[in-house]
Amino acid sequence: MSPTNGRMEKAIADFKSARERFELYEKFYLSVRGDARRYLESESNTYKIALRKIQALILPGIGKICPVCETQCCRLDDPEISIYIACTVGGFGLKDYLLARCNAIWPDPRYENAVKNLCPFWNSGCSLPTDCRSFLCIQFFCDKLKKNLDMRAVTESLGKLRTILDSFSIGKCMA
Ligand code: SF4
Ligand code: SF4
Repeated sequence: MSPTNGRMEKAIADFKSARERFELYEKFYLSVRGDARRYLESESNTYKIALRKIQALILPGIGKICPVCETQCCRLDDPEISIYIACTVGGFGLKDYLLARCNAIWPDPRYENAVKNLCPFWNSGCSLPTDCRSFLCIQFFCDKLKKNLDMRAVTESLGKLRTILDSFSIGKCMA
C-alpha cells in the first residue's frame, strides 16, 4: 500500500466515525428544550455575532484569492495543510455544532464527497451559511490568505470567539 493510499484509507475510516458522531450531535440538538433551549439560543446568537465580525475581516481576502486557488483547502486530509478535517464533519465538535446549528437552515451534507477527499459541505465553496462555521475551519488560513488579511485584527477576533466557545456549557443544554 502506498503512503498516499494508507493516508486516504485512514481518513475515510476516521470520517466514517465522524459522521456517526455528527448524527448524534443533531439528535442532541433536536432534544434541547425549555430553559436549556433559551440558553442555547442566547449563546448561539453571541457566537454568530462574533463569527460575522471575523467573516467581515476575512471574506474580502477569500473572495480575492480562493476562487482561483488550485489547491483548495477543504479536504478531509492533505499533508500540506496544518489541520486535519477527516475526524470531523465540517470541523465541528459538539460545542460549536450546537452554537452554529441553532435556529439555522443548513444544506444536507454531501457525504459522497468523502471519496474525493473533500468535506461534505464543499460544493464549489463552503455551502454552510457564513455565520455557521466551526472553530477549526474559521481559524485556518493558508499563507496566501494570511498575506491578504489584517492578521492582528483577525487574531484578536478569533480570541473573542474562542472565549465564547470555551465558556459555553453543554451541561446547561441538558438541564
Ligand atoms: S484558504 Fe488558501 S488554500 Fe484554501 S482555498 Fe483559499 S487560497 Fe486556497
Ligand atoms: S465546513 Fe466549509 S470551510 Fe469547513 S472544511 Fe467544510 S467546506 Fe471547508
